[in-house]
Amino acid sequence: MRIVLLGAPGAGKGTLAEQIRSKHATAHISTGDILRDNVRTGTPFGMQAKEYMDSGRLVPDHIIVAMMRERFGEKDCTAGFILDGFPRTVPQATALESMLSELKLSLDAVVLLDIDDETVVRRLSRRRVCRSCGAIYNLAFKPSAKGDRCELCDGELYQRDDDHESVIRNRLSVYHQQTKPLVSFYEEKGVLRRLPPEDGGTTLLESLEKMLGMVP
Ligand code: AMP
Repeated sequence: MRIVLLGAPGAGKGTLAEQIRSKHATAHISTGDILRDNVRTGTPFGMQAKEYMDSGRLVPDHIIVAMMRERFGEKDCTAGFILDGFPRTVPQATALESMLSELKLSLDAVVLLDIDDETVVRRLSRRRVCRSCGAIYNLAFKPSAKGDRCELCDGELYQRDDDHESVIRNRLSVYHQQTKPLVSFYEEKGVLRRLPPEDGGTTLLESLEKMLGMVP
């Protein structure tokens, strides 16, 4: 399966993508994670991207597209992938189409996770991430049993610089202006699927599996 997850920051794309990856053995490609790795290790990509990321703005398309071109060249992509956080602009979506057509591949679905802005602010401002393994917690509804350490690897939990409220609001306005147009872009191509919000009985993963006919 080749899937794009579309949705505002904090919609749950990363968590859902991780669940699909571990259950369906599909590569999870998060441009945010790749960029944060580049920032941490001080690569030229990272040095160019940091200032944009810290203020919640989008990293310029040419950097993202070059990074993704490199990523699609890796072996684990051949069995399928979930794109989480890419594309985020119409030029990125157009570049994705040409990269995939060079590889003779196409997308199976673009899945939209819809969420309102105030829920995003509440959710993201309480998000904590493990510095070592990247596990995601939330002070409100998924706290770590070990307080400020990771349950899985005992790493330190921290708040991302871009998860402070003023930056979150900026990221949301960037989403509405630059990423939301992708909804009609993909609707016109007939590949957009809207994932119903999580309810008491059905998780996002279960709804997605059912919607796309993935064998659970
Ligand atoms: P995320 O973890 O997906 O919320 O991404 C964190 C930050 O990385 C974003 O606020 C952007 O600054 C940058 N970023 C991630 N993916 C992209 C992308 N496809 N295009 C431009 N900037 C991106």
